[in-house]
Amino acid sequence: MTPAFSIAVYCGSRMGQTPEFASCAQAVGHWIGSRGGQLVYGGGNNGLMGQVANATQDAGGRVVGVIPTSLVELEFANKRCDELHIVDNMHQRKAMMAERADAFLALPGGIGTFEELFEVWTWRQLGYHNKPIGILNLDGYYDEMLSFLASGVRHGFMSEWQMSLVETSGDLNTLLPKLVETAGLSQQSADLAKQI
Ligand code: AMP
Repeated sequence: MTPAFSIAVYCGSRMGQTPEFASCAQAVGHWIGSRGGQLVYGGGNNGLMGQVANATQDAGGRVVGVIPTSLVELEFANKRCDELHIVDNMHQRKAMMAERADAFLALPGGIGTFEELFEVWTWRQLGYHNKPIGILNLDGYYDEMLSFLASGVRHGFMSEWQMSLVETSGDLNTLLPKLVETAGLSQQSADLAKQI
């Protein structure tokens, strides 16, 4: 069955200091799975990544993992994935994740998560895609990063428009519906453009 929507989630390969991070990752997976959605993610079973993937499947959703060979060799691959793609390198992985998703969501994480988020954000500003991007700012985790980016605007290296390309919220029940709805709208206009 075709999933209702497909969302790429970038998040920590670690659990974070407090149990709220894992609960939030599980809630995101539950939200996706219980609405017949598909999760696209890094294919690992460690940290928040494993939490979101298992919760998606437990709630009835589909999980697509995309993992480079080097990480499979370290036995990080999640064998439960409905589709597990083993690719040669990180560039292929990120390209495939971006292609398979209608929207992108960053949860709390470390440099891997930041890199994935900033890449799809950069691709969006360059017009390589038109898919919505969200940051789930659980417990103000991303506050300092967002203040730093605001200082980038003040210093003239970024624009308000660039900042507006990303939706930010601390509440998944506000953010996820917005991303899914916007993804549907941009898919409709892409289909329409093909017909013209
Ligand atoms: P980090 O935020 O540094 O923990 O990195 C997490 C992000 O990088 C995830 O969204 C993954 O796509 C990727 N990643 C990092 N470590 C792993 C791993 N052990 N297995 C699979 N993916 C990983």
